[in-house]
Amino acid sequence: MMKYDYLIVGAGLYGAVTARELTAKGRKCLVIDKRSHTGGNIYTENIAGINVHRYGAHIFHTDNKKIWNYVNSLVEFNRYTNSPIANYRGQLYSLPFNMNTFYQMWGCVSPKEARERIERQKAESGIEVPRNLEEQAISLVGKDIYETLIKGYTEKQWGRRCVDLPAFIIKRLPVRFTFDNNYFNDRYQGVPIGGYTSLIDKMLGDTEVHLGTDYFSDRERWDASAEKIVYTGEIDRYFDYRYGRLQYRSLDFQTELLEGEANYQGNAVVNYTDADTPFTRIIEHKHFEFGLQPDTVITKEYPKEWKPGDDPYYPVNDEYNSRLYEKYRTLANEQSRVIFGGRLAEYRYYDMHQVIESALNRVAGL
Ligand code: FAD
Ligand code: UDP
Repeated sequence: MMKYDYLIVGAGLYGAVTARELTAKGRKCLVIDKRSHTGGNIYTENIAGINVHRYGAHIFHTDNKKIWNYVNSLVEFNRYTNSPIANYRGQLYSLPFNMNTFYQMWGCVSPKEARERIERQKAESGIEVPRNLEEQAISLVGKDIYETLIKGYTEKQWGRRCVDLPAFIIKRLPVRFTFDNNYFNDRYQGVPIGGYTSLIDKMLGDTEVHLGTDYFSDRERWDASAEKIVYTGEIDRYFDYRYGRLQYRSLDFQTELLEGEANYQGNAVVNYTDADTPFTRIIEHKHFEFGLQPDTVITKEYPKEWKPGDDPYYPVNDEYNSRLYEKYRTLANEQSRVIFGGRLAEYRYYDMHQVIESALNRVAGL
């Protein structure tokens, strides 16, 4: 007789939603995570009274009312709206690409002028059907914005040339011909009051959790502990890299407490879009919650290629990796007692609301 109905590998968002729902259905679950804390990449840690997003800026946004109600039934969200600023060699621009950006870049005061400017630059580049991120970006916002706000940032972030990256990465960002600096188009947006850790604590409240516990350190024991397994780690690792390694992008986060400095940059997120600055963005955490503390905490994000031992933050959904992932997915589909879910096990550039939706859908059928 196995001790648990489900072993859930990973206490990140996918694991936590799954644990909450299965526990509510009366299933006996055990969650294990190799990290020393729950929450995976949405974990927030309180430093000097400020909720610090330990693994980079996280803003919750969704168009799905059901998902919004789900998270709000667990914790209260504030009214934070993401409006990052881009710093290109000391010049500031509004993001996402909107009339404020077009005015700052070209002095365009009407949508018509801005559209004409973009169309002209697109025509000069000779792009008809965009085949990669560079062509997609020029088609959307023209060459000047591509070169100032996109090329340097994207090549630092992904460590690959824009011509070698898929177009969909840039399609995440809105392009608007209105004066609207909201980074997202979704109807609902905010940050949990008290940080994401309070959300995860609510989700995992009734479930047994073992931290500092790597599934692969004693795989046979863990496999024998439960009838079924929900696996949210890297899919290639699960299959012992049988077809070779998938690639990931990783990040180094350099966090500093600035004592006696109440407001370092006046915004939660400032992107450094030139190619020479080695980091992509500086996060000032207090601004996610409108903090008025006497000190501040900032984090610089330095992108890097993932290597064993690093945290894998982003799947690289280019052709090579997509093909390799499909081979692993075929293997995963053959595992009748294992569910593969989340950013790492599905190798998908999922946002939080998508992870929750995917976990809820999966659990509904169990
Ligand atoms: P993870 O959070 O990666 O959780 C997986 C967990 O499994 C980890 O805790 C890991 O330690 C554990 N694990 C892995 N292998 C093992 C093992 N062998 N044994 C035990 N445990 C294991 N989304 C948004 O909606 N808005 C944003 O603004 C946003 N910003 C982001 C910024 C950055 C820098 C990053 C990297 C992501 C961002 N995201 C954002 C995406 C968001 O982080 C993810 O959608 C979400 O955290 C994915 O949850 P997950 O459970 O799939 O994965
Ligand atoms: N991007 C850019 N310039 C910016 C911000 C974003 O070129 O100032 C591009 C970059 O390629 C990035 C993509 O848009 O990977 C998506 O941006 P997003 O902010 O959604 O990235 P994430 O939060 O996932 O790191």
